[in-house]
Amino acid sequence: MNNEEVEMPLPTPCPVCGKKTLVYRAMELDIPNFGKCLESTIICKSCGYKHSDIMMLETREPTRYQIDLESEDDLNARVIRSTSGTITIPEIGAKMEPGPYSEAFITNVEGVLNRFVDVLVQLLHTYPSKREDILDVLRKIGYIRHGRMKATMILDDPFGNSAILSNKVKKRKLTKEEVNNLKTGEVTFRPEDIEKLKGANR
Ligand SMILES: [Zn+2]
Repeated sequence: MNNEEVEMPLPTPCPVCGKKTLVYRAMELDIPNFGKCLESTIICKSCGYKHSDIMMLETREPTRYQIDLESEDDLNARVIRSTSGTITIPEIGAKMEPGPYSEAFITNVEGVLNRFVDVLVQLLHTYPSKREDILDVLRKIGYIRHGRMKATMILDDPFGNSAILSNKVKKRKLTKEEVNNLKTGEVTFRPEDIEKLKGANR
């Protein structure tokens, strides 16, 4: 499934440590039922800073993927989230929006739930006064995991770079209004930018 990986140094300083030790890695993936995409990662060899993104190599339209989480089997549905993807689970008020720290990832529904759990655990430390509310959401995620509470996972992407893959997933085009209501990611790598970076490095 994986093609060879491309790696090249970047001329820009690391946003975290300021050293000029960034490298850009890109790998073309051909994901069944999704298509060809480019997974790109910027890594700092000094401090370990890392940023990933996923981009479709074919033109895509703004798309919503929606899956009803009803059983433990649904945890295995594959989730491809680009930095422009917004993941929502309305039943528990969970939302993962693109932002300066948003990460692209390829995982499954369970992996997304784990990411929400990580955030909630951090919130427990930051907002001890909200402890009961946070524990309530954590409990509900536990129920969803075991198919004891029905929930919906929605993944919206204005560039169509994200997807949930399962035979029970519902897919539709986003309306213009829905696209306008979405926040978009701040870091994207289009082919022309990669060309520019290559040029700057010569
Ligand atoms: Zn660094």
